[in-house]
Amino acid sequence: MLYKKRLMTPGPTEVPPTVLAEAAKPVIHHRTPQFRKVLTEVIAGLKRIFKTEQDLLVFPAAGTGGMESAIVNLCSAGDKILVASCGNFGNRWSTIAKAYGVETDHYEVEWGMSVSPAEIEKRLQADAGIKAVYITLSETSTGAESDVKAIGQIVAKTPAVLVVDAISGLGAIPMETDAWQADVVVAGAQKGFMIPPGLAMVSISKKAWTLAKESKLPKFYFSWEKAQKSMIAEALANTPYTPSVSLIMQMAESLRLIEQEGLDVVWARHAKMAAAAREAMQALGLKLFCTGQPSNVVTSVRVPEGVDGGILFKVIRDTYGITLAGGQGKLKGKIFRIGHLGYADDWDVIAAVAAIERALGEQGFKFQLGVGVSAAQKVFFS
Ligand SMILES: *Cc1c(COP(=O)(O)O)cnc(C)c1O
Repeated sequence: MLYKKRLMTPGPTEVPPTVLAEAAKPVIHHRTPQFRKVLTEVIAGLKRIFKTEQDLLVFPAAGTGGMESAIVNLCSAGDKILVASCGNFGNRWSTIAKAYGVETDHYEVEWGMSVSPAEIEKRLQADAGIKAVYITLSETSTGAESDVKAIGQIVAKTPAVLVVDAISGLGAIPMETDAWQADVVVAGAQKGFMIPPGLAMVSISKKAWTLAKESKLPKFYFSWEKAQKSMIAEALANTPYTPSVSLIMQMAESLRLIEQEGLDVVWARHAKMAAAAREAMQALGLKLFCTGQPSNVVTSVRVPEGVDGGILFKVIRDTYGITLAGGQGKLKGKIFRIGHLGYADDWDVIAAVAAIERALGEQGFKFQLGVGVSAAQKVFFS
């Protein structure tokens, strides 16, 4: 039987048709006024979405490349940083730091919870040598959000620089780079920005530039200084190396779509989809995995007893056409995650809930058919 394919993971996300069409256009040369005009527009548009007036750089890379750039450009070997994490992606900060010989004070909370701003404050007070604090806006592996605004207020009072992995959240949930005093914010292409994977975006405050000037870790491709010189200082919208031309064209179209809808409306749409997903899962008698502040881009759900999480996930994907995400690392088989992020709407969430109901029913899980869908409908209808 034919089932339409729906990609409902917290990245990559579905790409709107007009954004897909941009990739089918002939590739233009990057050292031309035509391309520089597009890149100039893209950087300006990204700054409006980041809500920043600071420098913003674009690298052809996975989001993790942007994260690595935030270690190699800010730190020196032997420096100490604070990593506050609540899941797999937060832990990546400390893995990258270790790879470069940067000493890490790693504050990790139980997965599912959000990090505590008060604990970050305590650790900063206890060690004045901490150069930077690394956090995650929306922890995609667990579905928990951090209070970046509160953490920003704390870190701003110290000499430390605040670095935020906003890869899954930017463009979908509130993140106000300058107002929340986030010195470095990293984003990626394939989540809220609705384009195929392959771009990392990084904003850099003056405070972060000051630290970057002292950094001695080796760097070349991800050198902020080189990128800043080409993209901004020489005012050329140039790039040090060949940029991903087609992805930049796609980003230009995607930014048009986001701004046409209005960023506030985009945020509200994600809040609605998340509320519907959470209500639906609870109505089915399932338990949400996140016990902290739930993120509006992904809902993580515990696989109920008597249900095989691996089979559930495969049936929904291979039989019913909807790709959800499973659990990562130690959560494999224990949770599944519904991505309601980017180019997604009410009907996608309702379809996902309906498919989950059907696959649960097939495994003999007891519930009243339709209660999940009904709960989601009620949220959208209200
Ligand atoms: C997806 C994601 C990443 C990793 O992005 P890649 O493009 O796979 O490198 C990092 N952090 C968060 C919070 C994410 O959601």
